[in-house]
Amino acid sequence: MSRFWSQVAKDLTPYVPGEQPKIANLIKLNTNESPYPPSPKAVAAILAELGSDGARLRLYPDPNADLLKQAVARRYGATPDQVFVGNGSDEVLAHAFQALLKHDAPILFPDITYSFYPVYCRLYGVAHETVPLTDDFSINPANYIGRRNGGIIFPNPNAPTGRELALDAIADIARANPDSVVVVDEAYIDFGGNTAIPLTRRFDNVLVVHTLSKSRSLAGLRVGYAIGHPDLIEALERVKNSFNSYPLDRLAIVGAVAAIKDDAYFAECCRKVVATRDTLTANLAALGFDVLPSTANFVFARHPQRDAAELAKALRERSIIVRHFKLPRIDQFLRITVGTDGECQALADALRAILN
Ligand SMILES: *Cc1c(COP(=O)(O)O)cnc(C)c1O
Repeated sequence: MSRFWSQVAKDLTPYVPGEQPKIANLIKLNTNESPYPPSPKAVAAILAELGSDGARLRLYPDPNADLLKQAVARRYGATPDQVFVGNGSDEVLAHAFQALLKHDAPILFPDITYSFYPVYCRLYGVAHETVPLTDDFSINPANYIGRRNGGIIFPNPNAPTGRELALDAIADIARANPDSVVVVDEAYIDFGGNTAIPLTRRFDNVLVVHTLSKSRSLAGLRVGYAIGHPDLIEALERVKNSFNSYPLDRLAIVGAVAAIKDDAYFAECCRKVVATRDTLTANLAALGFDVLPSTANFVFARHPQRDAAELAKALRERSIIVRHFKLPRIDQFLRITVGTDGECQALADALRAILN
């Protein structure tokens, strides 16, 4: 704190991302990155854009990233005016809070969810109310119906639980709240979930947000996008163009376009993650863990007899890091990213040793 801080800076409670430790030979299962490299076509496109002398970096990128909007639109059967792109989906979400969720009534989101949402609420002065998940940690759509709100947001599958909400439940929420935007944060949808993108054609109040950070192995490139009615997209563009004209750099645009187009590679990576997740879930269950059903690239698990923080600490001593949240209702859970088969086997072996 210093006398130079504005009241805004003083009042913030910043988000704390999972750590990115600078330790070699770590098994890193704490921030839901992909264990596989990005599409070779994305890498080639980035290298081609860079060229041998990097001369193209002299020039600003396309402020509208039209090539990327076209690629996303084509991939998902939308039109480019139904697509918004940003510097990671966190930025897309941030703009959605300001452009679409800031109204008089409080917005609604689950009590256990992506912990960036309350941070954005504070940054932008958006009132919110949390809606408890059920005892089995799922979203009950009825709790979002018949309740005054300025908007609704949740991840699907939810984070950090991994549980998915069915599309007809999302449709029910959208139909019951025609004057609110329903933001569906699909950061983890590609690992076996059903995307709500088709709902964006039926409902003018549904905005679906995706990231290239997880299923496309490009967390380091920082690209996310939203799909929705052109009026929703226009609001996001207005905020974006009042904040940063060039959120996506040249390398990010070409890399993202190539990654979106390489469906075969993408499908293969997702398939491997899902197969490993199923093995990991079975191994954890065999060790006595309760594992929530996951359609994400992570599992959320608790051991009935062992303290989660102590398990996380013991794993760390064996150079394996997982995520533990010191939060009500979930402080006995570990969120474990699905790594390679080898990484998940090492995790299971380490847990077996710790539990004995
Ligand atoms: C990882 C994640 C994001 C952010 O992804 P970026 O595109 O890397 O900013 C958004 N929402 C949820 C629920 C996530 O887990």
